[in-house]
Amino acid sequence: MNLNLDVQFNRTIEQLILDELRRCTPLNEPISDATLVHKASKNRLLGAVGKAAELPSFPNIRSLADMSFVRGSDLGVLSRDKFVPLCSSGEQILVAVANPWDYGPDEYCAAHFPDHELLKIVTLSSEISAIIEAASLTIGPSRAELEAVEVDEFFTEIADFPVTHQHEEPIAQLVAGMVSNAIKVHASDIHIRTEKSSCHYCYRIDGDLGGRIEVPFKLKDRIDAFLLNLMRLSPEERSKRVGLSGRFNANYYGRSIAIRYERHRTYRGYHVTMRLLDKAHLEGRLGLGTLVFDPETLFELEKAMAIPSGIIVISGPTGSGKSTTVNAMLRQLNRPEDNILTLENPVEDEIAGVTHCDLRDSSEFKPMIASFMRSDPDVIFMGEVRDKESAELAIEAAITGHKVLTTIHTPSASLIIERFQQLGTERWKIAQTIKAACAQRLVKLLCTACRESHSLISAHEIKLFQLPEEWARHPVHKRHKEGCAECHWRGYAGRTALLEILPISPAIGDALSKGQITPYELELQIRRNTGLLSLRDNGLKLLSEGRTDLEALRKALDMTVMN
Ligand SMILES: [Zn+2]
Repeated sequence: MNLNLDVQFNRTIEQLILDELRRCTPLNEPISDATLVHKASKNRLLGAVGKAAELPSFPNIRSLADMSFVRGSDLGVLSRDKFVPLCSSGEQILVAVANPWDYGPDEYCAAHFPDHELLKIVTLSSEISAIIEAASLTIGPSRAELEAVEVDEFFTEIADFPVTHQHEEPIAQLVAGMVSNAIKVHASDIHIRTEKSSCHYCYRIDGDLGGRIEVPFKLKDRIDAFLLNLMRLSPEERSKRVGLSGRFNANYYGRSIAIRYERHRTYRGYHVTMRLLDKAHLEGRLGLGTLVFDPETLFELEKAMAIPSGIIVISGPTGSGKSTTVNAMLRQLNRPEDNILTLENPVEDEIAGVTHCDLRDSSEFKPMIASFMRSDPDVIFMGEVRDKESAELAIEAAITGHKVLTTIHTPSASLIIERFQQLGTERWKIAQTIKAACAQRLVKLLCTACRESHSLISAHEIKLFQLPEEWARHPVHKRHKEGCAECHWRGYAGRTALLEILPISPAIGDALSKGQITPYELELQIRRNTGLLSLRDNGLKLLSEGRTDLEALRKALDMTVMN
């Protein structure tokens, strides 16, 4: 078709459309073609185009599209020529076109669906674009194609050290046995220490260091070298004499357990601590396993978690199980529609669907949180509030509408509020953002197979721990000194978390921001009005139930103060 004919052809089409438009637009007075087009709605124009082309017109075709069928087409061609094969039925293909006088779609369909009859409909080009866009969202290489992509394997991933295998090499067997036994007895750490003429290792179980296991002194350097090789540390790393850190994985009957290694120099050699990041025996759910709180406390915690924005702070010393509780909360908050970001040092327990980030250096804290804030977050867990800067960042995140979980080092829940004040946070900001202040401790539980019953608390202890007089007549349980096979001869078996919570209701927050009550008065008021238990009350409840003993309680919390 030469140019003149082409122009003539387009004029004919234009006239056809204008005639149709004039026919279906009732007018009282004659108007120009330009005004006619200008006044017509998109749907009316579409109708005129359809009539002129003698094709059915549809202003809305999205419900007609079979997306899996659309995805089978070349979306690049569809997008360029403004058409889309919508679906097929028997021998027929339904194709939506924006320009019924363009033969591109006919040629494409003749090539791709040779045995099919073409049924064309006219639609708006915006409709065609919308369907192509929807189809292209999931267009991409298949999983199999991606799996087949060849990449250079870097040695960033450390191979698992099989600790339950029999090793030929005696040092490998020694370390494997040391680690597998630690996993078996649920140790949290393994310590290896060298002294003047001895080398030994021991386990920390439920917060206590256990008995020493001696190894021949001459092997100390061999053990050290074996562990460094296992972690594939670079020569620069190895030459660091102070604070050597590493990581490896232990394979325990097919299960991979991460182990964090830390070594520092001592007068006689070195001290190695290996932290077992084995969460299998800890129940990571609120209300289960270690995290069985009393129902009122759990209710208040879940209520605070249901508030869309604000801070929930958990305090407690190192090893009080704060991260287990926070991870359980994250698991509960973890929903596909929410973006959860964490900044931890280190990442201990990865939850699918949560974006975990590790803090490599404290100078990264502020820029990381600033970047989080620009990353469209719903929930942020920032490892720890330790200074003015981190306190301000947590408050800022909550004020701008985010849910923030964090931890802090204070002995009790009410001191969390004081700590924020000391860090320079204004009272109104604290009152407005902190939704719950919690304190947590882990308390050892008596082995039920060997615990001793019917012992009485001495008068000295009654006085020391300010216990009410009736405790003198109240028989309690006690640990059996030798223990039994059930508890690996320790007398205790497992731990439970105690949690005290101060929910900051709007009324309490108001009084706090006006300076009408001190954090301590606030605590007393909450306890009086709600009956929520303090750490000490929680502990005494456990004691009266025979689940722990006074010795374990006084180790976990300061029993000499009343609150
Ligand atoms: Zn026992």
